[in-house]
Amino acid sequence: MTSPHRDPLLPPGFRWPDGVRAAASFTFDLDAESPILWDHPETAGYLDVMTHQAYGPRTAVPRLLRILDRQAIRATFFIPGYSADRWPEAVRSIRDAGHEIAHHGYLHESSRDADAATEEARLLRGLEALDRVAGVRPVGYRAPNWEMSYAMPALLARHGFRYDSGLMDADHPYRLATAPGPDAPTLVELPAHWSLDDWEQYNYLPGITGTGVIASPARVLEMWQLELEAMTVEGGCFVLTNHPFVSGRPSRAVALERLIERARATDGLWIAACEDIAAHVATLDLPPVVHTPPIVPGPPVGPER
Ligand code: ZN
Repeated sequence: MTSPHRDPLLPPGFRWPDGVRAAASFTFDLDAESPILWDHPETAGYLDVMTHQAYGPRTAVPRLLRILDRQAIRATFFIPGYSADRWPEAVRSIRDAGHEIAHHGYLHESSRDADAATEEARLLRGLEALDRVAGVRPVGYRAPNWEMSYAMPALLARHGFRYDSGLMDADHPYRLATAPGPDAPTLVELPAHWSLDDWEQYNYLPGITGTGVIASPARVLEMWQLELEAMTVEGGCFVLTNHPFVSGRPSRAVALERLIERARATDGLWIAACEDIAAHVATLDLPPVVHTPPIVPGPPVGPER
């Protein structure tokens, strides 16, 4: 067993505010119908599937807002523009409760095979919807499905975003370069991971998503709690991603509240919205991380005969 009090190995230049040894952000992606409509547009005509997704804004958001209020924490909601257009009252209730609203595409579009102009148009469409519905101008972005293109960091910087949350190569937030070179604008990256996403644990729609194996909230709570404890020991940033239609169901919401209680009882753990963590990280003198695509090697050249 490792000691919970050993000194973490922090990246060069990285530190938390005084008195803080690690951070946690509880985030919610208000996907509602959007990812299903993007992947399977025919489901717009399936009442059963649409109600499965509508559970999020209709039933889960009020429950989750009560939990966040009881626990007195500020969360980040990543909201596709389409969700805002379809569920404006739910989105305004999130805003009115004081939580951060961030960008999550318009119709939860896949970035695979999309060119930069297409991605920029989607980015603007999402911004317009969040402004129209809630009068907010987000500073944070999370790629739908965490499908982040190499072009997107520069697009985010061009449109005034300050952070992204979804890359998977670190435990600590870092400075994300938008291009090589010392003068390129930078963003803050708050890394995430599939193991801290509720979709894989709970979600099942026959023929659309999931294996049909739906995890017990007790097992999910145990898994997330272990990661929270270990991430705290590492001095990193625990970013949990829940979807209201997934984790807002009763026993799952109870498990989530227990996890939040555990986080609140952890000495030195800073629980904050992503934008607040990103604002702290932006003050640090961190070397920018430049991501470049690897070159895929061709087939081996055989020996000369
Ligand atoms: Zn999503």
